[in-house]
Amino acid sequence: MKLSLVVPCYNEQDNINIFYSETEKVFAGCGFEYEYVFINDGSNDKTMKVLRELYDEKVDSNITIIHFSRNFGKESAIYAGIENSIGDYVALIDADMQQRPEIVLEMLNILDTEPEYDCVTAYQDRRKESSVMTGFKSFFYKLINKLSDIKLYENASDFRVFTRKVAKTIVEVGEYHRFSKGIFSWIGFNTKFVPYEVQERYAGETKWSFTKLVKYALDGITAFSTKPLKLATYTGMLSSFVAIVYLVVVIIQRLFFNVAVSGYATIVALILLIGGIQLFCIGIIGSYLAKTYIQSKHRPIYIAKEILTYKK
Ligand code: UDP
Ligand code: MG
Repeated sequence: MKLSLVVPCYNEQDNINIFYSETEKVFAGCGFEYEYVFINDGSNDKTMKVLRELYDEKVDSNITIIHFSRNFGKESAIYAGIENSIGDYVALIDADMQQRPEIVLEMLNILDTEPEYDCVTAYQDRRKESSVMTGFKSFFYKLINKLSDIKLYENASDFRVFTRKVAKTIVEVGEYHRFSKGIFSWIGFNTKFVPYEVQERYAGETKWSFTKLVKYALDGITAFSTKPLKLATYTGMLSSFVAIVYLVVVIIQRLFFNVAVSGYATIVALILLIGGIQLFCIGIIGSYLAKTYIQSKHRPIYIAKEILTYKK
C-alpha cells in the first residue's frame, strides 16, 4: 500500500461524494495502491449515512471509516486516521474540496524524488480572508515563534503528505491536547513547504469561528511554551521594584519637605491594577494546571463507536 488519504469529516454530507469522485479521478489510474481513511467526527447530519453508502457500494473496497462516538475535533480525527492507516505515505486532506487532490500527487512526487525530505506541507499562497483575520494570524505566528522553542511556518496548513516513519512518530506523541502544527514541528524531520491556492468550500460552512480560532491559538501557545508562566515572576519583580522606589520617594518627601501624600483615587486604582495582574497570572497558571489535570487522567484521544474496514 503506497498511500493513505486521511480525511476528517464533520458535517460534510454534501461534500463526501464529490470529494470521493474528484479524488478517484486523480488516483484511480496512477498505478499504485492507495486507501481512504474517513473519520466521521461525531457529525450530526447525514455524513455517516453517506460514508456507509460509499463503503457498501465499493465491492473491492479500499475504504476505512472510523465512526467517532461524538465530536472530538479535527485534531483527534487526524490522530485516529493516522493510527488506522497502513500506507507507506500518509496524506491529510480536508473533505470540503478546499484542498485539491492533485496537489497530494504533487507532494507525493516530491517525497519520491527528493528522499531527503520526510514531509511535504502545503502553505497558503494568498489567504482568501479579511485583512483583519490575516493580521491576527500573522500576529499569532510571530508570538508563538517568539515564546516557544518550536518554529511554526507562517500560513502552513494541515494539508500534508509524510512518510510512515513520521506517521509512527506522530502517533507516539500521545498528548491529549493536540496542536498538530506544533507537534509536526516538534518531532523534527525534514519538511519541504510548497505553496498552494486554497479553493472555495464546495458545500456547508467552516467550523471555525473567530472565538474558536483564538482558543486554538492560545492552546497552541500553552502546548509549546511555558514562558507565560514566568509572567507572574517578571511582573512581580517589576512592581516590587517600582514600589520600593516610590516608598523611598514618599519617605524623603515626608521627612525633608513635610509633604503628606494624599490620594484616595490613586490607591483605589493601584489596588485594582495589582489585583487584576494577580488574577490574570493565576488564570494563566490555572490553564496550565487544567491541562495537566486532564492529561493525568490518560483519557483516550478519541473513542470509535464503529470501524468499518476492508483490512483484516
Ligand atoms: N473537521 C473535523 N472535526 C471538527 C471540525 C472540522 O473533522 O470538529 C474537519 C472538517 O470536516 C473538514 C476539516 O476538518 O474536513 C477542516 O474543517 P473546516 O473546513 O471547517 O476548516 P477550514 O477549512 O475553514 O479551516
Ligand atoms: Mg475547509
